[in-house]
Amino acid sequence: MKVLRLGHRAGRDDRISTHVGLVARQYGAEEVVFCGQNDSGMMESLRDVDDRWGEGTDFRHSDSWRPEIREFNGFTAHLTMYGLSLDDEVDRLRSKNLDELQLVVGSEKVPREVYRHADLNLAVGHQPHSEIAALAVTLDRITGIKRGFDDAEIEVEPTDGEKRTRKP
Ligand code: SAM
Repeated sequence: MKVLRLGHRAGRDDRISTHVGLVARQYGAEEVVFCGQNDSGMMESLRDVDDRWGEGTDFRHSDSWRPEIREFNGFTAHLTMYGLSLDDEVDRLRSKNLDELQLVVGSEKVPREVYRHADLNLAVGHQPHSEIAALAVTLDRITGIKRGFDDAEIEVEPTDGEKRTRKP
């Protein structure tokens, strides 16, 4: 599964784009691609999380969303409040092979062409909210949280007391 984040603005969107990356990773994305400004610092911090907490997700920048969507060999769902309801489309999404699924999330303004080139425009409710939340809800319905991250240096030791980590 691939996640495409549109329109990243270094400085303004660091936290939101980072959280898009973290959510995508948590749900098992193989690749997260950031369009907009090339923010090597943000990318490094995501790669650092992947290195320490278990590998599996590639993070990269792309100069343009066009080839990412047009040349993707699979099914592209663009998350937008104007789309078809997730409740109605979830079975169709679940029927796809995960390797062949691309989810697109926007930022401030999404070009009209993105709506046209997507195979599906998908709404998590028809109210404006957040790309992080929309991505998390969609992935939770499709895949559920990934278990088992390979080659982790550290992992959480689950506890209802003080926070703890351990080496796997
Ligand atoms: N008004 C903007 C536009 O041009 O569509 C949306 C801005 S919103 C803060 C940023 C992103 O969050 C959107 O591009 C979309 O990917 C996601 N998003 C926001 N509300 C959503 C909803 N109800 N369903 C699905 N995705 C949503």
